[in-house]
Amino acid sequence: MAVEKVVIIGSGPAAWTAAIYAARAALDPLVYEGAMTEENRQSGTTPLGQLNLTTEVENFPSWPTGDTREYLKTALGDNAPYWVQKNKPQPTHGIQGPEMMELMRQQAKNFGTRVVTDDIVKLELDKHPFVLHTLEGQRIETHAVILSTGARANYLGLPSEHNYKNKGVSACAVCDGALSPFRNKPLVVVGGGDSAVEESSYLTKFASRVYLLVRRDSLRASQIMQKRLFDNPKILPIFNTSISEVLGNEHWIERVKLVGESKVRKPDGSWQMLGDYLKESPDANFANGELAVSGMFCAIGHTPNTNFLEGQLKLNEKSYIEWTTVARTYTSIDGVFAAGDVADDYYRQAISASGTGCMAALDAERWLGHHGLI
Ligand code: NDP
Repeated sequence: MAVEKVVIIGSGPAAWTAAIYAARAALDPLVYEGAMTEENRQSGTTPLGQLNLTTEVENFPSWPTGDTREYLKTALGDNAPYWVQKNKPQPTHGIQGPEMMELMRQQAKNFGTRVVTDDIVKLELDKHPFVLHTLEGQRIETHAVILSTGARANYLGLPSEHNYKNKGVSACAVCDGALSPFRNKPLVVVGGGDSAVEESSYLTKFASRVYLLVRRDSLRASQIMQKRLFDNPKILPIFNTSISEVLGNEHWIERVKLVGESKVRKPDGSWQMLGDYLKESPDANFANGELAVSGMFCAIGHTPNTNFLEGQLKLNEKSYIEWTTVARTYTSIDGVFAAGDVADDYYRQAISASGTGCMAALDAERWLGHHGLI
């Protein structure tokens, strides 16, 4: 069997961008986009990644919401394309996550990318060419590998929470927070790290009130983020508390049930039980141990999809792949590159994943060229 030049594992923005660049560089890439198994569905790792599980994507440049003919007329005037000047119908109107992923996949295929709907379950990176094994039992040899298997957001794991995913339960405030069902409504964020504080602050742009639920009596977030939190009058942090059930109608979340001590920290640093606090500062969103909210955002960390690597590659303490050189997608194994969220626990955006996907393809091309493999 012929040895592949580069195999790309994953099917999010990093993988498809890497494929587009690799295909255009005549590397004839082979993408393993993941398998449609029940196990993958349960863990949120089916093909097309996290974006396939979300709704509108409003922050990926070049997809403005609205009728783009108007924008192009303003920007380009007489130089606008014919169909804009003649007001011909055209479909561009923002984009949904799943739609965006299908388009990226198609763009990669248009340049000749071969796509296999299967998981890579095992890699042999201690020999070269590298050997990859698929769930369906195929064996592939390749000179270079781009790992872009992404990460999955952690959720609390409650069955009721699962039922409201995409119905008000989200794990990405930056992706979903500006959507209309969340505007001018009370929202709840779960977590105590920098993400939870950042997402709470971000959501105050849209929400009427944000309740931050922290499971312990202290935050993990940095001091500067904590200051930002306590300075924001729209956020009420509640400590020693957790959600036992997510409640609502068949279309949307309406309430969350709180359990635990539930304490509020007053500006002078002293503690007050939530019940006593509410007597002094009545809040119509609380009743019978439940909090009325129109959205719930989990910010309790992410888990990178690196299990299948079985320790063959250097990972950081949170199991993300470690980039070994600044501003390069190199990993601890020569010829293996990493792109997107699988190597990034910090930015985690579609656009940054696409950016590193592009970098990984260029790095792979140069590496293959340097070693006389293309
Ligand atoms: P972290 O791992 O730092 O924090 C996760 C938080 O979620 C912790 O407070 C943890 O609680 C809580 N948590 C975990 N599981 C549960 C659960 N089941 N129920 C309730 N709470 C739970 O992840 P982040 O995503 O916040 O941050 C990741 C990295 O990104 C960090 O290094 C962070 O500094 C960085 N970051 C930096 C930002 C900035 O500087 N602007 C913004 C966002 C992220 P506990 O504390 O009890 O373990």
